[in-house]
Amino acid sequence: MNIYEEVKNAATIGISGHIRPDGDCVGSVMGLYLYLKKVCPDAKIQVMLEKPAEVFSCISGIEEIHTDFTSDVEVFQAFFALDAAKDRLGGAEAYFDHAEKKINIDHHISNKGCGDVNYIVPGASSTSELIYELIEDKSLLDEEIAKALYIGIIHDTGVFQYSNTSPATLNAAAELIGYGFDFTKLIDETFYEKTYVQNQILGRALLESISFMNGKCVVSMVDKKTMDFYRAVPHDLEGIVSQLRYVKGVECAIFMYQTDTMEYKVSLRSKEKVDVAKVASFFGGGGHVRAAGATMQGTFHDIVNNLSAQIAEQLKA
Ligand code: AMP
Ligand code: MN
Repeated sequence: MNIYEEVKNAATIGISGHIRPDGDCVGSVMGLYLYLKKVCPDAKIQVMLEKPAEVFSCISGIEEIHTDFTSDVEVFQAFFALDAAKDRLGGAEAYFDHAEKKINIDHHISNKGCGDVNYIVPGASSTSELIYELIEDKSLLDEEIAKALYIGIIHDTGVFQYSNTSPATLNAAAELIGYGFDFTKLIDETFYEKTYVQNQILGRALLESISFMNGKCVVSMVDKKTMDFYRAVPHDLEGIVSQLRYVKGVECAIFMYQTDTMEYKVSLRSKEKVDVAKVASFFGGGGHVRAAGATMQGTFHDIVNNLSAQIAEQLKA
């Protein structure tokens, strides 16, 4: 696929990513946006995305995002869905559906491709790495594009720790840091740093976690009441599931937070054996082999029981 070839004749271009945008989603969307503004200077280009977390305000152009999903363009001539299939685009899904040319770029194994043009590479570390690769003329890269894509890569690889990190990932990162931005500060401020409240909820979730299946699984939950008490938003809970996964002997970590009465957003992480994308897909979600998620209905105990059955089946096999 050649990004420029796909959009060079488009007068209007839209870009979106998934709801509750994470680092890779924001990084890939903004990296592509900044690049397209350079290669298609005459096109009207709009980003439609839920408001990114405050930590991403260091990305150039972030204030130009249409966070309310409104636009004066009814039918975009080209529309990108990044880091997700169209069903997770939230308010941007309708624009994608109506677009003359739909382009889907993603690295989720659960995404079968929902565009007229699809570039789905499940082995890639991140959608940001894919955007980096797809920028044919690397002389068009600049510090701001590099920064956005680098943020995406570090977030989806856990700063080059997860098994999705490949030589290609590190080569991309090597070239990106060559643009001279302060990557140490970027990693600290967008990935590791937590607010006081975020740390408090993390501590509480760890304290209340339950170990089961002889220590092979660990689960924790934050209910709506607790989120309201801390005035926490979903982004404040990122990282809790990774911390649970660090427990020695744990193969599969489960974290969930309540989104409604009898409804929870579930995050799954595994170390070596369990394909959590398969588990999440079984319940209507998706993701990657070692990191996946789903929205599930029922009580906390129902959900843990249902997940356990799927996990146990894989561990048995
Ligand atoms: P999370 O647990 O939300 O951090 O998500 C882990 C991975 O699974 C990320 O790559 C998400 O994009 C993906 N993911 C989470 N929820 C879903 C879902 N409902 N459908 C498809 N992919 C998901
Ligand atoms: Mn991603």
